[in-house]
Amino acid sequence: MAVYGVPKIALNDGNMIPQLGFGVFQIEPKDTARAVGEALEVGYRHIDTAEMYGNEAEVGQAIRATGLDRDVVFVTSKLDNGFHRPDDARKAFESTLQALKFDYLDLFLIHWPLPTRYSGDFVSTWKVLEELQRDGRAKSIGVSNFQVPHLERLAAEAEVTPAVNQVEVHPYFGNEEVRAYGAAHNILTEGWSPLARGRVLGDPTIIDIAEEVGRTPAQVVLRWHVQRGDIVFPKSTTPQRVEENFQIFDFELDDATMDRINGLDQGDAGRQGPNPDTF
Ligand code: NDP
Repeated sequence: MAVYGVPKIALNDGNMIPQLGFGVFQIEPKDTARAVGEALEVGYRHIDTAEMYGNEAEVGQAIRATGLDRDVVFVTSKLDNGFHRPDDARKAFESTLQALKFDYLDLFLIHWPLPTRYSGDFVSTWKVLEELQRDGRAKSIGVSNFQVPHLERLAAEAEVTPAVNQVEVHPYFGNEEVRAYGAAHNILTEGWSPLARGRVLGDPTIIDIAEEVGRTPAQVVLRWHVQRGDIVFPKSTTPQRVEENFQIFDFELDDATMDRINGLDQGDAGRQGPNPDTF
């Protein structure tokens, strides 16, 4: 069987990120090392975790158990919502490194902007991430769940442009305005819940397309994401699905098929997760 590599994309700071990764939200800590170990075995070299997920230690453990060099696996974690005040953010980042047993992180994100908390001050939190990047402990820094006005505020008040914005994106919620802002300002979009937590896989259009191209619904949806240029990290604790989700670089969807999937967008009604303006 031919091996098709996962493309790497350049971030705005020059670092490279694998376009496909493995997400570990809602994987129990007791199951995480096994799941991540299997993903690494399949060939995934990008893991997306967060302080909030409670499984950073097991992610680090799984990576060490493979014997792979630290620098061949791209690891992202995220600042938890209780720690936006600058001193708390510094301590939380240290706890993340300690849990992973790493001396640096490839990418560190503010998990949610929380515009209704901390007097709406995510800029002072962002300045701590700038500090972490300067001292080399976070190679790249970015944000998650930032809306256009939040990104505009960072552009006006901060020094560093986020390398990525990790937001909800899938066929039922294209999140086009936020993606367009990213594209225009050199901020890569990472699409979370790329399969709409599995809900889009039963969609009749997706099922028809899967039959037409001889692939599974999940492969069709993930292929749609990568052809749009986004970064994705589907979650699965089912070994066969983890493998299936990795086999998306040996076929293509034509423009008409891409448009049919684009046509499933329901706007805000398609969201599976909370709205960042009010969360
Ligand atoms: P996904 O869209 O990745 O869907 C995961 C669900 O789809 C699971 O129930 C899984 O089942 C199922 N699934 C996976 N692959 C297949 C397949 N090939 N066929 C059928 N079903 C499949 O949702 P997530 O919410 O987990 O998002 C992915 C990642 O995004 C997270 O792990 C996390 O890293 C990130 N994320 C970030 C957020 C943020 O605020 N920044 C918010 C939410 C997610 P099973 O496991 O049983 O196989």
